[in-house]
Amino acid sequence: MRKPFIAGNWKMNNTRAEAKALVEALKPLVAGIDNVEIAVAPAFTCLEAVSPLLAGSNIGLSAQNIAYAPSGAYTGEVSAAMLKDVGCVYAIIGHSERRQFFGETDASVAKRVRAALDNGIIPIVCIGETLQEREDGRTFDVVLTQLVEGLAAVESSEATLVVIAYEPVWAIGTGKTATPEQAQEVHAAIRARLAECFGGEIAEAIRIQYGGSVNASNAKTLLGQKDIDGALVGGASLKADAFVEIIRGAC
Ligand code: PEP
Repeated sequence: MRKPFIAGNWKMNNTRAEAKALVEALKPLVAGIDNVEIAVAPAFTCLEAVSPLLAGSNIGLSAQNIAYAPSGAYTGEVSAAMLKDVGCVYAIIGHSERRQFFGETDASVAKRVRAALDNGIIPIVCIGETLQEREDGRTFDVVLTQLVEGLAAVESSEATLVVIAYEPVWAIGTGKTATPEQAQEVHAAIRARLAECFGGEIAEAIRIQYGGSVNASNAKTLLGQKDIDGALVGGASLKADAFVEIIRGAC
């Protein structure tokens, strides 16, 4: 059985005070939910403020990225050891906004995934096609290439630690959601490819989140699909009541 996993990606939003207020609003709403894994990913500047508030709660702390190098002359990057030090359990890696605006590639994703696993941080590896790629009939080719190349340095023995987030780029922040059938079709293909890479039993244990304009109204149907094991939520995770509705959709 795969435990559903709902993570909120706050992106470049919230001051420390706003981040703390959001966590304080969320905590009582999700208290007692133990059949869904829950995480929030504040900006780097808010991690230290939020971390003690999450201690002892059922909400885990995630970073929005992770450096591939352990330390040194990498201006603007934050290392795995630094993230561990502040209490991060997860790191989002290869988000389409990182790929689109900051030049991240499957090769850098693979190195970041390795850095996360080497330091006991669970990588949430984002993959997804653009609208043009979908219209050109290249969805499976693009998504499965990102998957295989992004996980190139993952051993079978550690593969179940990895979380995949399938996020069609055309659905992120646009209000357009993949239909449950469209999403399930890609999730099933991802799981089939994971089985080729790591074996069927391991593939069955790997969580695959869906992301792209998930909200309180569409969450339940998406999460009801056989191979959709949770959601990576952007905009709707910035409001505690909307986020908790999505989490309830996974219960
Ligand atoms: C995301 O940032 O990963 C995301 C899916 O954003 P949104 O829910 O706003 O589309």
